[in-house]
Parts: sequence; C-alpha cells; structure tokens
Amino acid sequence: MKKNNKPLIIIIFVFILELVIIGALGVTFLKSINSIEQKIQGQEIKDIHQLQTECRDVKEVIKRELVISMVACALMTIILVVYLSHMVIYPLKKMIESKEKRERAEETEIKTRLLHMTEGIIAFDINGKIDLINPAAKMLLKISPEDYTFEDIFNKFKLDINMEKLIYLEDLTSMDQVIDVEDKTVKVLFAPFRNEENNKPEGIIAVIQDITESVKLDTMRKEFVADVSHELKTPITSIMGYTDTLLEGDYDEETQREFLQVVSSEARRMAKLVTDLLELSRIDNNRKNVRKVSFDLGALAKECQKKLAIEIKKKKHHVECLVTADVPPVYADKDDIQRVILNILTNSIKYTPDGGNIKIYVGFVYNDAYIKIIDNGIGIPEEDLNRIFERFYRVDKSRAREMGGSGLGLSIAKEILDKNGGSIDIKSQVNKGTEVVIKIPTK
Ligand code: ADP
Repeated sequence: MKKNNKPLIIIIFVFILELVIIGALGVTFLKSINSIEQKIQGQEIKDIHQLQTECRDVKEVIKRELVISMVACALMTIILVVYLSHMVIYPLKKMIESKEKRERAEETEIKTRLLHMTEGIIAFDINGKIDLINPAAKMLLKISPEDYTFEDIFNKFKLDINMEKLIYLEDLTSMDQVIDVEDKTVKVLFAPFRNEENNKPEGIIAVIQDITESVKLDTMRKEFVADVSHELKTPITSIMGYTDTLLEGDYDEETQREFLQVVSSEARRMAKLVTDLLELSRIDNNRKNVRKVSFDLGALAKECQKKLAIEIKKKKHHVECLVTADVPPVYADKDDIQRVILNILTNSIKYTPDGGNIKIYVGFVYNDAYIKIIDNGIGIPEEDLNRIFERFYRVDKSRAREMGGSGLGLSIAKEILDKNGGSIDIKSQVNKGTEVVIKIPTK
C-alpha cells in the first residue's frame, strides 16, 4: 500500500519555516544589542539620554519584527490546520462515520433477521435480565409483558436449570431442555456467552425451537410400529394355536376343516395387512408412480360393484349404481382409483348389517367428477369422524378386526386421492348410515 507522506512533509516544512522566523528574530535582536554595545565602546553614546533613544529605536524594530513574525506564524498555523483538517481529520471523520454507518446497518440487519426468525432468541445479561428478545421467543414461550428475567420466564416450567448453573459450570458449553407450552412442544438450547478479551461470563443466550411436529411424528412412528406388531401378532398367534391343536389331536374331518378355515382367513388377513403396509410404504417413499390416464368413472364404479358381487351376495345387500349422463372422463391413475372405490365399497358392505341398501352415484360438479357411496349401516360416531383417516384408526377395534379390517384402508384412500389431485369426505350417523364422497379431477 502506498503511504501518503504529504502531511508529514508539510508539518516539517512549517516547523522549519517557524524556526527560521524565530532564528531571524533572534539574529535581529542580537544585532541590535551588539550595535548598542559597539556604540557604547566607540563612545558614540555619551550620556544616558542617548542610550535611552538608542534602546527605544531597537525596541521599535524588535516590536515590528515580532508582530510580523507572529502574524506569519499565525498564518502558517491556520494554513496548516486547514490543510490537516482537509487531508487528515476530514478523511478520518469520514472513515469513522462510515464505520458507524456499517455497524448501524449490521445491527439493523441482525435485528431484522431476529425479527423474522422462526426460532426464538433471548439474550440474558449476567443478572438474568432480558437484553434482547425476538417475537418468535415471545410467541413460543407465551412470554407476558411482566416477564423481565430468566426466572420470570423459566420458573413456571419447573426446569432443573438456573442462571448460576449455566454460567458457572465450567465444562458446560450448552444445555437443552424440552418444554411443553400449552399445546406446543419446544426445545430450548441454553448457551453461556463470554467476553472475548477476559473470558468472563457475560450472560446467556436461549434459542427456542418449535418441535411439536417432530415430536408428533416420532410418537406416530412409535405407535405405528406398535400397531403393526400387534396387528401381525394377533393372526400369527391364532394360526399357531389352530395348527398346534390340529397337530396334537385326532379330529374328525369337519372340525379339521373348520380349524383350517380359521387358519386360512387369518393368513389372508395377514397378507392384506402386509399388502396395505407395502402400499403405504410405497406412497410414503414416493416410490409410487402416478400414471394418469383418462377413463370413465361410471364404468369403473360398475366394474368394482361386479368385483364385489360375492361379498354383496353373502350379506344379501341391495346395491344400486346410478351414473349421470354427462360425466366427462376423469384424469387420474385408474388402478389407484379402483383401489379406493373397492375399499370404500368393501367398508359399506362390511359395516352394514345383512340385507342393507347401498347406493353408488357417479356425477359431475364444477370441474370434478364425483362418486358417492351411501349405505344404511352402523355408521360412525361423530367424535371418531375426524380421526378416521389416521393409520390403524378403527372405531371399534375388536369389531373391525373381526371383520378383517386393519384400519389402513381409509388412510391409503386419502393418500392416493391426494396424489391424484382428488379428495375424500365422510358424513355419518350412528345406526343410520354413512356417505362417502370422492372427487376426482377431469382433464
Ligand atoms: P378397516 O380396514 O378397519 O375397515 P378403514 O380405514 O377402511 O379400515 O376404516 C377405518 C374405520 O372406519 C373402520 O374400522 C370402521 O370402524 C370405520 N368405517 C369405515 N367405513 C365405514 C362405514 N361405511 N360404516 C361404518 N363404519 C365405517
């Protein structure tokens, strides 16, 4: 970097100039005294009056020169000051100003970021008083305007933690706590911060994250594993029980047949469960390709009815399929939609007492074609309706299991319809019946 020596040269120059002026003044002064001395020695000055006159003259000369040199020095000093302020002080001031501006901009940026962060941030000073807090922290921890300190905020959650512990535990770098705040679960990470120069603790930073969703997902995952194990264990136990009995005893053909029928139906239940689980896993992992084609929804509904003819006949239901004339072709994965219709229709057949009435309507509304399946079966209690699409959710577990249900059908139906841009809605009344409406987009 090139060094600017100009100010230094100017200062040295002015300094030398001033020295020259002072020197010249001194020389004049000495000269005047010498001339008086010579005049005294040469007896040009004879009396005290003459000496006084000579001294007055010298005084006048010195006075005049002194004024001139003072004016010259003052002028030079003014010029120097003006120059320096221009060359040094002004740029220095500008530099400080721009630094302050930069710092202010950085501060504003930090404040803006804190303001819009989804994570909550609170900085406490060494006495536990809030130094800084962002809106997310206030919202996540439900902080009221009366909360000013660490204790005010965290004492109500009964944590096994306090300022002293966080600040003075030498080996503690950070610590987190999971807190339930009303209907949310939050994770708070506490970290002490220290002065960079002397390493003394200055306070604590708390970072608050909303982990409600991940806790929910974790619980769901655990429940799912427990449910799957339970669902598989039940038929396995039953199969083992019947086969062991068959192997141990000498049963007549009819009893053997009866036992084998149970084994067969339990094995089928397990197979259905595994197929459903595989389907769910394919949907979850996005491994399921949606192959959309245009097809006739009315024709598909009738096909599904035919496929379930044996079950319908077994339960002596009366099933009617009515298709409105003007339904345009739907645009979706045909196999997927068939699976959904079979599922909903199977539910109506299963959960309607023998000799029931099931109606299938296919129509068109706005841009969607719909299929409505109405039964006059046992219905679903209102409190269960909003949970019906959850995996493994069954209204009456034992009864549904008896009927071969796994509680996965509706959740699969919903996921399939989501993927195909459709929707599913259920209305039901206990002992009156259930109405399921599926909407599928047309092209
Ligand atoms: P499942 O394989 O057990 O039938 P679903 O996910 O298809 O599983 O259905 C979930 C639960 O919803 C069923 O266990 C049943 O209790 C209830 N349900 C579904 N459809 C009907 C219906 N048409 N009538 C009465 N209850 C039904």
